[in-house]
Amino acid sequence: MDNTLAWLKEISTAPGVSGFEQPVKDLMLKKLGPITEVSYDKIGSVIFAKSGSFADPKIMLASHMDEIGFMVKMITKEGFVKFTMLGGWWEQVMLGQRVTVMTSKGNIPGVIGSKPPHILSPEERKKVVKKREMFIDIGAADENEARARFGVRPGDPIAPQSEFIVMANEKFLMAKAWDNRVGCAIVAEVLEKLHNEIHANTVYGVGTVQEEVGLRGAQTSANVINPDIAFAVDTCIAGDTPGITEDLASSKLGKGVAIAIYDASMIPHTKLRNFVIDTAEKNNIPYQLEFTEGGGTDAGKIHVHATGVPSLVLSIPTRYIHSHNSIIHRDDYEAAIRLLVAIIKNLDASKYKELLK
Ligand SMILES: [Zn+2]
Repeated sequence: MDNTLAWLKEISTAPGVSGFEQPVKDLMLKKLGPITEVSYDKIGSVIFAKSGSFADPKIMLASHMDEIGFMVKMITKEGFVKFTMLGGWWEQVMLGQRVTVMTSKGNIPGVIGSKPPHILSPEERKKVVKKREMFIDIGAADENEARARFGVRPGDPIAPQSEFIVMANEKFLMAKAWDNRVGCAIVAEVLEKLHNEIHANTVYGVGTVQEEVGLRGAQTSANVINPDIAFAVDTCIAGDTPGITEDLASSKLGKGVAIAIYDASMIPHTKLRNFVIDTAEKNNIPYQLEFTEGGGTDAGKIHVHATGVPSLVLSIPTRYIHSHNSIIHRDDYEAAIRLLVAIIKNLDASKYKELLK
């Protein structure tokens, strides 16, 4: 396993659901703390500043650290956990999946259970099991063991659990939480690459919190930085699996970094978008244009910060987003890093002024 794969494995398998991003933040701090200036907002986001030969423009690269997950709501007398959702879950990808319950006494394994189909009526069998009817089995004898011995308490976070896998075609990488650990991984690698590069601006790599529950850390960290320009680095829906037509989702794995032309939270800044497309073409970096009619990203909040921040979303096409096993393509990851480095090297004060006209 090379360094990039080891880094992707480490960051994708870290448990860090919305509001409980510390394990991801610790990994980013370990990697970037020694080579950047570190600051924080006050709800958990972390900011890594890398100064260049000029202070301005201030470029923000936002990647949300949180993954969708769950939270302990209550423990039944029999020792099962009833839970609430943190972020957008679809019932059909939940049942039978493994989870990690993060308790005051450490992490414990669990599985999302329900009644088995064998004992359901034919009518019940046709229906999708509702989230409210599901529970987590943590292998406790009863409520007392769950609380006293395992340390489970209402409010404890619960993260999806699954393995990081390099697939038979080693460019295809399967893991949980690519949304948005791949974004965090990209931002970290970009800052590392810039370490020995000349750039006429200041770059702020940000690990934001609570994106999946309402783009919250993006708002607070933008207040800390006051960026001149921003890029959200995130995932987008891959449209290259059976049954999806190109007009629903156009991006494909392995065809390059996706430049968002529209999402429900933002219409990208036109001149910035065109500058980024030109930069990709000049540097022979594979890219694809992508739109999302539902959903948004951190840029949705950042672009309306203060008097406005020209913003754009760069994303990695991802299959089976918001499930325990999502798939990305390594070439897209590498294209995103190359494109961001090229953008930063070409985005000085005069270019920025041009974009605002
Ligand atoms: Zn995301």
